[in-house]
Amino acid sequence: MKLQNSGKLIAAITGLFALGNAFAAPTVTRLNPPSALFTYADATPPYISRFLPAQRFDLQATIQADAGKTITSVVFKVNGSPVTAAVGASAITSIGGDKFSATIRGYSNSTAGVKTLVVEATQSDSLVATGTGNFEIASITLNAGRKAKNIIWLIGDGTGIAHRTAARIVSKGASLGKSNDPLAMDTLPVTGIVTTHSLNSIVTDSAPGAHCYSTGNKANNGQEGVFPDDTTDKWDNPRIEHMGSYLARTQGKWLGIVTTADVEDATPAAFAVSTQDRGAGTGICDMYLDEAVLNHNLRVLMGGGRKWFLPLDGSAGAGSGRVNSSTATGGDYVVPADVQAGWSVPAGSVDPNRNLIADFQTAGFYYAPDLAGLNAMTGSETKLLGLFNSGHMDVSYDKIAYRRSSTVASGSLIATYPNQPLLEEMTDKALTVLSKNANGFVMMIEGASIDKQAHNMDTERWVHDAIEFDKAVAKCIAFQASNPDTLIIVTADHECAGINIIGGSTVTDAALQGTAVGSLKGIVGTYDNAKFPAYTIAGDGYPTTMDVDYRMIIGYAGNSDRYETWRSSPSYNVSPQARNTTTGYLVTGQQPGTGVQSAVHTASDIPLSAGGRGAAAFTGVFDNTDAFFKAMQAAIGGSK
Ligand SMILES: [Zn+2]
Repeated sequence: MKLQNSGKLIAAITGLFALGNAFAAPTVTRLNPPSALFTYADATPPYISRFLPAQRFDLQATIQADAGKTITSVVFKVNGSPVTAAVGASAITSIGGDKFSATIRGYSNSTAGVKTLVVEATQSDSLVATGTGNFEIASITLNAGRKAKNIIWLIGDGTGIAHRTAARIVSKGASLGKSNDPLAMDTLPVTGIVTTHSLNSIVTDSAPGAHCYSTGNKANNGQEGVFPDDTTDKWDNPRIEHMGSYLARTQGKWLGIVTTADVEDATPAAFAVSTQDRGAGTGICDMYLDEAVLNHNLRVLMGGGRKWFLPLDGSAGAGSGRVNSSTATGGDYVVPADVQAGWSVPAGSVDPNRNLIADFQTAGFYYAPDLAGLNAMTGSETKLLGLFNSGHMDVSYDKIAYRRSSTVASGSLIATYPNQPLLEEMTDKALTVLSKNANGFVMMIEGASIDKQAHNMDTERWVHDAIEFDKAVAKCIAFQASNPDTLIIVTADHECAGINIIGGSTVTDAALQGTAVGSLKGIVGTYDNAKFPAYTIAGDGYPTTMDVDYRMIIGYAGNSDRYETWRSSPSYNVSPQARNTTTGYLVTGQQPGTGVQSAVHTASDIPLSAGGRGAAAFTGVFDNTDAFFKAMQAAIGGSK
């Protein structure tokens, strides 16, 4: 446009601006709980957010005010009725950029049905912004039969259908077309197929992948116990009540969390913690004591992650990983006043020199640093903390090798933590503690490194951990035999690495070791050349060796680059791009990931097996969040 008319132009622009100003208005840019109605103006099912009658959750809205204006009042209405917050449990917070976040904490609704949620936000110039969404209060059929007194979730992290098949071929074998024996998880009578998408992607990570089972709702990747918001604060997100808290509050149940990962990791934390940052280890571990012991009746916490429990000043020994900040990676937690009031939780604080183990002991927990500590239990303990490694526990392949021949895998921490328990041993002790509660318990048991070693395309180590996981399943099935009011659910949070069994080796292990790099692809026997790879099981229940003649061959659809030898690697957790570079042949990745654990999750459905009280509901194809409601129907309403 030519400038000679600049005067007029400026007048026009000013006029437009004034017009714009005349038409500017505050807008609601986010409304929690998330809904298709708010995001897409779609009021039809499936309803994105669903809750149990009386399950608590937060209402939250983000409002974009006009420049320089403030939001002076906010009203949330459910089906037209204004929601009244408990004292101190609501807030309107300026979050920068003329944006405001309004919350009502700890809301609940006891009447089943679909609810319309409207937020009305008034600006300082009395302009009003509104937003409309919906959520569903699920109906629970009461007195529908005997209730599940105990609920046991067994989550094989990343364990898709092929991970199961591989574990069965190695640990049970197959011949003449039939498996010689089933896995323990195969013996559970009910099977379902679960869809795994998270709130913000078809491919989930473990945080929403477990959050869905513990809250019945979706979350963004990397977030647990919460819905997404518009602040960088890790601890102010809108919360959803966990199964453990709900059943502690309404039925006096106890909660147990057992994992082979660092206990700050996503799957365990999703059962008791509320944060938008799954990596905030200091705060996550403090929240276990300050909130979960308080409100969820957390009575058993076992896994790795000791570093988060040691004071930073070294007063309880070296190796602390605590972080002196609430914003940095690994950070500590401080929750806003409205969260404290709405959820009856303490403020928290940045306390790097906190001795969390001592605080757990003060709260009555028996502390076990290793298997010997577990075995020294008298059996009368009613609270158990077990921290068996600084970070993630070492994997069963290396734990068993050490037990058998004192072999210490390079890259592992076996030398520092020589007496780490196996998952079945942890499960045993957890059941002993939790079964003391007459009101029953909820427990989550995770086989974590099936996922981590699948990410690393370390076939031998993830297969071995899938076998370890199945032994923990067997422990729970044995428990159920004498405790029939127990519901067992065996599933995963997602599939990891796009694994499948593509064949069997056509050569002996000796021949394989002598095979030139350029010929390694050629030893893969497909179709009938796969035959029946045969492994032997030692007295300790694990494969005598994974390097058998004519071994099973695994392929990876979610792969990054790797050098493949088809043999076990003596070293643990070495990047696939740095492992076997001279002895293996390059299998080029389909995605650009690099480094340790660089193969990726997939969006495929996963299998679920269930047995016991209420298990029949877990059949068919259903969303991961549905599993929560099926389990809660069993615990609250019962089943035939
Ligand atoms: Zn993973």
